[in-house]
Amino acid sequence: VNRVVVAGAGLAGVRSVEALRARGFEGEIVLLGQERHRPYDRPPLSKAVLLGTSDSSFVDSDLATLEVDFRPGVSATGLRAGVVETSEGDLPYDGLVIATGADPITLPGDGQQHVLRTLDDALELRARLVRGARVVVIGAGWIGAEVATAARRAGCEVTVVEAGPAPLSHAVGAELGARTLPWYDGIDLRLGTMVASVDEGGVRLVDGEFLEAHVVVTGVGVRPAVEWLAGADIDLHNGVVADEHLRASLPGVVAVGDCAAWWSRRYGTRLRVEHWDTALGAPEVAAATLLGEDAVYDPVPYFWSEQFGHMVQYAGHHPAGSRLLHRGGPEGKWSACWLTEDDTLAAVLAVDRPRDLVQGRRIIDAGHRMDPERLVDPDVPLRDC
Ligand code: FAD
Repeated sequence: VNRVVVAGAGLAGVRSVEALRARGFEGEIVLLGQERHRPYDRPPLSKAVLLGTSDSSFVDSDLATLEVDFRPGVSATGLRAGVVETSEGDLPYDGLVIATGADPITLPGDGQQHVLRTLDDALELRARLVRGARVVVIGAGWIGAEVATAARRAGCEVTVVEAGPAPLSHAVGAELGARTLPWYDGIDLRLGTMVASVDEGGVRLVDGEFLEAHVVVTGVGVRPAVEWLAGADIDLHNGVVADEHLRASLPGVVAVGDCAAWWSRRYGTRLRVEHWDTALGAPEVAAATLLGEDAVYDPVPYFWSEQFGHMVQYAGHHPAGSRLLHRGGPEGKWSACWLTEDDTLAAVLAVDRPRDLVQGRRIIDAGHRMDPERLVDPDVPLRDC
C-alpha cells in the first residue's frame, strides 16, 4: 500500500490517519474534508458550544506531524476501483477509508430550518438563541433534548414537537423516555405530534395548527452520507456495508464511523452506530485491516447525552423484546437494564449513575448472566448482581 485516501475529515477520518501512522504506515495519506475546518469533535456542539462556554472543539491531532496531505474544502464525489473522484479531480488510491459520516434529515417547507451537525451550524444557531426568542425544536431525541436545554437556558420560549409518545422513545422506548418528562418543565412539549412543513415564520403541524417561531431547529435524525457512492460498484445498505474487519465490498476499501454498517459478531447482526465512541475506536481496526493485519471490530456500543442537567448514558444494544428492569425510581438518579431471554445483560441506560454504566458495559462485554432480583435493587452494585 503506497497511498491511502481518507474520505471525510471528521473524528473517524482523523483517527484513521493516526491509526495508520501508529501502525507504521509510511506511505502517502490524503485526507479529504468537505468542510473548511480542520477535524473537530461534534458532541460539544450541542453542549458547550451551544451553551456559549466554548467556541470550538478541534481535536488536538497534529496534522503536520502526521504528515498527512489534508485537503479542506475538497469533497469525494465518486468512486471507481482504485480511484476516488473528487471536486478537484481524480485521486488514485491503494487503500481507501470511507469516513464521510452522516447528514441531518430536513423536513419539507420553504421556511428557514436550522440543523445541528457542523461547527458552523452550532455558531449560527447559538447567535439566534436569545432571550425571548420563540424557538420550535422538532424532535425530542438526543439532539432535540440538548438543543432544548440550551435554548431554555438562554431564556428562549421553547416548544418541542415530537412524533413519538415520549421523548427519546425511538432510542430507549416510550416507558423510559417518559421518565424524562419532568425535565421539560417550562417547555411546551407536544407529543404524538407530526410536523407537515416548516414555513415562513413557523411550523405547520399535520392537524393544521401553526406554531409561530423565530427559530426552528430540526433534529429528526441523520442519514449516512453516502450519496457520493451511488454510482460506485460497492454494496450500500443503510450506509456502507462492511464485514467484521470493516472491509467494504470493494477490495482495498474500509468504512468507519457514522457511515459504516458493519457486521457485529457479538450481536450477530449488522450495526450502524452514530456515536462518538465508534468513530473513535473503529479506525484502529480499519487501519489494521487495510495494512493486511487480522483485526475484528466488536465493541459494546456506548453513547452519552447531557440534557437538562442530567448525564444520560447508554451501553450495549437491546433487540426488540428484551426484558426491561428498573434500578431505582423515576425521581433522582436511576438506571435500567435490558436482559436477553437467558438473563444476559444486553444493554444498560444510566441517568446520573455513571457507575452502573461503567460496570454494565464490562458485564455486557464479558457476557455474564444476571440475577434479576438483585438487579432491581439500586443499592446492590451492578457487578454484584
Ligand atoms: P462526521 O463527524 O460526520 O464526519 C464526517 C466528515 O466527512 C464531515 O466533516 C463531513 O463534512 C465530511 N464529508 C461528508 N461527505 C464528504 C465527502 N463526500 N467528501 C469529503 N468529506 C465529506 N455522540 C455521542 O456518543 N455522544 C454525544 O453526546 C454526541 N453528541 C453529538 C452532538 C451533535 C451536535 C452531533 C452532530 C453529533 C453528536 N454525537 C454524539 C455523534 C458523534 O458526533 C458522531 O457519531 C461522530 O461525529 C461520527 O464521526 P464520523 O467521523 O463518522 O462522522
